[in-house]
Amino acid sequence: MSKGNKTLTMIKPDAVENNNIGGILKMINEAGFRINAMKYTRLTQAQASQFYAVHKERPFYNDLVSFMTSGPIVAAILEKDNAVEDFRKLIGATNPANAEAGTIRKVYAESIERNAVHGSDSDDNARIEGDFFFSSLERS
Ligand code: ATP
Ligand code: MG
Repeated sequence: MSKGNKTLTMIKPDAVENNNIGGILKMINEAGFRINAMKYTRLTQAQASQFYAVHKERPFYNDLVSFMTSGPIVAAILEKDNAVEDFRKLIGATNPANAEAGTIRKVYAESIERNAVHGSDSDDNARIEGDFFFSSLERS
């Protein structure tokens, strides 16, 4: 089966707070991704809990939901061949201490929790997460 050409990203509250929206979007564009949909918004407790529900049994879940609702985010659907895998490479490891040079998290993440960006981990989740944030009217 061929790989999908879309992924969903969030620029997380730490990166928005630190004025890194522009720098992160520049890295995303320079890596060959195009923006298919984008919005600046703030997640409610219920929305963040739903988005990260897969992690609800993990010890960091409550902190993660608090962090993700602590300020505004930018959500975007990005388009490129092999989008999910290529974007995971561009963002780097979850823990910035392990992220490779040149990755977004290496440059912008503060910690394993405050790690600047989200990237979908599969084509199925890219579709689910894109539908979570965007109606058909909001996509190009
Ligand atoms: P994301 O899903 O946000 O792209 P990821 O896929 O690299 O990140 P996940 O394992 O899905 O990592 O974890 C989701 C998010 O939960 C992480 O990005 C981070 O913000 C937070 N997180 C993960 N592991 C920890 C941890 N051990 N301690 C604190 N926060 C964590
Ligand atoms: Mg993940």
